[in-house]
Formats: sequence, structure tokens, C-alpha cells
Amino acid sequence: MAEVDLAVIGAGLAGCSLIGRLQQLRSDLNIVVIEAGRGPGGRTATRRRRDQIGWLLNHGAPGFGLSESMPEGMEALLAPLRSAGVLQRDERAVLSLNAQGDLSPANSPDACPDGGWWHGVPSMASICVGLLDTAGPVQLSRQFETRVRWLERRRDHWLLENEDRSWSLRAKHLVLSGTLLAHPRSLKMLAWDDVPLRTAVAEGVDDDLDKALSLLKHSQAEVRWNLMVDLGVLALKAEELPAQIWLDDAAKARWKVERLVLQPQSDGRWGLVVHGLDSGEAITPESQAHLLAQEQQRLVELLPELLQALPVVSAALNQATPLGVMRWGASRPLNNPLPQELQWCPTSAVGFCGDWIAGTRFGRAEGAISSGVNLAEQLHADR
Ligand SMILES: Cc1cc2nc3c(=O)[nH]c(=O)nc-3n(C[C@H](O)[C@H](O)[C@H](O)COP(=O)(O)OP(=O)(O)OC[C@H]3O[C@@H](n4cnc5c(N)ncnc54)[C@H](O)[C@@H]3O)c2cc1C
Repeated sequence: MAEVDLAVIGAGLAGCSLIGRLQQLRSDLNIVVIEAGRGPGGRTATRRRRDQIGWLLNHGAPGFGLSESMPEGMEALLAPLRSAGVLQRDERAVLSLNAQGDLSPANSPDACPDGGWWHGVPSMASICVGLLDTAGPVQLSRQFETRVRWLERRRDHWLLENEDRSWSLRAKHLVLSGTLLAHPRSLKMLAWDDVPLRTAVAEGVDDDLDKALSLLKHSQAEVRWNLMVDLGVLALKAEELPAQIWLDDAAKARWKVERLVLQPQSDGRWGLVVHGLDSGEAITPESQAHLLAQEQQRLVELLPELLQALPVVSAALNQATPLGVMRWGASRPLNNPLPQELQWCPTSAVGFCGDWIAGTRFGRAEGAISSGVNLAEQLHADR
């Protein structure tokens, strides 16, 4: 069985920032990153299509805000991505849509984050790919399409296994960059009968971990149902359409949609992502397919109304192809941030990073990056 110094579960912004920063700090740790998805990205992942080579659609976060002034470690981590053009400012317009279907320049804090919008080029997933590629002596293996289901804390190491136990790994230290293995939501959503991290370390063994798990138990997250659409070829330059259209409160209440995201493709096609709000209906493995189909139908039917103020896009709806709905079960954490002092639990050699860690950009991409940088610096200092 393979054995490593550090297993990082999750190749989203937080996990990749942790690894990238460790690499920059010249860590000599032997690391494996394990990711359930096909590649790095997490909630900043990008959808490709087998039938359309070159198609890239950012179906999670289409971009994010970055503070003008960031801590030194974050600046150092992001500087190479900025200079390589992988992380760029998105200067395209961001508009607001009211309940009458009229557009105007957006001015809400969500639509106009301090420091402006930044995005990955050619796609959002490129940021995580770039973070993992940051040059350094660290030994990094990547294990994609593997969802860790079972965790066991042995005397001086962790044992990780996938659902059918056909894959396993021993690791001296463990970092969870998502909440899946530590939050009771997995019980219903995945029909698991235990919270893996809780089972691995019994209550009373590690005070820090007990505190972290009991805080997490009460944390809630927003659900998003994102409809992806191929609008076909539009004879428009990228800057001729807004990057995002945020619905104001009345429009959100009317259509149960948060925003529309328009993304030009390299061959003249345009992709559209409609970020649908949740109706609160519980989801189980059995109900999932039906709920996804229902949400796709609801959002497709809304498109003519939502796009009426953009005649060119509206006209393209005749040739548009819906590409399915992605349900983000925890698109953003809403409450109970994990205090930074609980990011590393030394007794059990387990740590956490992600946008659910407390900080100024809690629940945002910048918060995820900063949590990874903080944990990397802490792990490095402890060695
Ligand atoms: C639709 C949407 C819109 C958003 N819009 C914005 C925005 O406008 N601005 C902004 O700042 N932020 C936005 N966000 C939030 C932003 O995307 C997140 O804050 C950020 O990407 C979180 O990164 P992370 O690394 O903490 O988590 P994630 O990206 O979720 O990464 C965790 C990774 O861990 C993997 N994983 C979890 N458990 C396991 C397991 N057991 N085994 C293997 N792999 C596992 C997951 O597959 C995932 O890839 C948006 C998010 C969504 C979904």
C-alpha cells in the first residue's frame, strides 16, 4: 500500500493553494492529492464536452473577487499565475436585472466585489491546475476520480479508502479541503450511515477535533442548480455581452434565479449558465435524477423571460441546446465558520482548509485560497 507524508482530500482552490504554497515554501513533504472529480477545480471546475472539442464552460464560480491588498503568502502564491496570464482580471460588464426584465449596471456587493472580478484563463479550472503545477521540490501525486469514503485513524497514520475499498492509502497527515467527510449532510445525500471523520476518531480523544466537528455539524450551505446551455454561434465579440447578469431581490423572488453567466467559446459559440436557487426539496440518491430533470425544465422555460433585454441572445434560444443541470449541494457555506485555530488538530494529525474556514472572505473563493495558504504556512512552521 502506498504511504505518504500528507494526503490532501480535494483539489479545489483551497487544497491546491495549500499544495502550491507548500511547494513555494520548499516543503520536502511527499504529498498525494485525492479528488472525486475528473481533475482539479472543485467549485471552480470547468465542463468540457466529448462532442465539442475546445468547449469550456465554467459551471461553478465564473470568477471571484480578490482584495487589493492581500497577505504576503497569498500574493506570492498568486503572482506566478497572474504573470503567466492564467489568473486575469475580467473587465467584461456585470449587469443587474429587475423583475420587469430590464437591465442596468450592477452595484450590489456580490456583483461588484472589492478589487473587481478575476477569472481563470482559458478556464476557471486552469487556476487549480496552475497552483498544482507551481514549481518546487515537493513530491506530488494526483489521484483523480476517487472519492474517499472510509477513514481510519491508526496509531501513527491515517488509512484512506474509497467506497468499495479497491483503492487505499496510508498517510502520516491528513487534510480535508471539503466538508463531505465531516458533515452530517453526507448521511442523507449519499445514503451513508456515518460521518467518516467522526467514526475515525471517537469523541473524547481529541478536544480540537471534537470542537471542529460539533461546529461543522450546525453549519449550513446554499444549494445551486446550474443549468448549462450551448447558445450556438453568435456574431458577437466577447466584450459585446455582459459576463454576468445578477438578478435583484425582486427578480430573484420572481424567478428563483441568482444570476446568468455568459461565456464566449473559442469557436464563436457562447455558453450560458443559469444559477438557479434552491426550492429546499430534500435530495437522495433515488430522487436526484428526477429533481435534476425537473429543474432543467423549469430553468429552460424561464430563458425567454430572463433574456428579453438581450435580443441577440434571446433570438439564439431557437438554436440553443440545454446541456444539463449541475447541482451544487454546498455552493457556499452560510454560517458557523471554523475558527482558524482549529485548522490543524495535532493530536489526530488532521487539518482543514476551504471556504468554510473563518476569515474576511468566508464562503468565497478568496477565503478558500487564504485558508490553504494559512494551513501551508502552519504545517511548514511546525516541521
Ligand atoms: C455556482 C457557484 C458560484 C459561485 N460563485 C462565486 C463567486 O461569484 N465568487 C466567489 O468568491 N465564490 C463563488 N463561489 C464559491 C467558490 O467557488 C468557493 O468558495 C471555492 O471554489 C471553494 O473552494 P474550496 O477548495 O474550499 O472547495 P471546493 O472547490 O468544493 O473543493 C473541495 C474539493 O474536494 C473534493 N472532495 C470533497 N470530499 C471528497 C472526498 N471524500 N473524496 C475526494 N474528493 C473530495 C470535491 O470534489 C472538491 O473538488 C461559487 C460557487 C459555486 C458552486
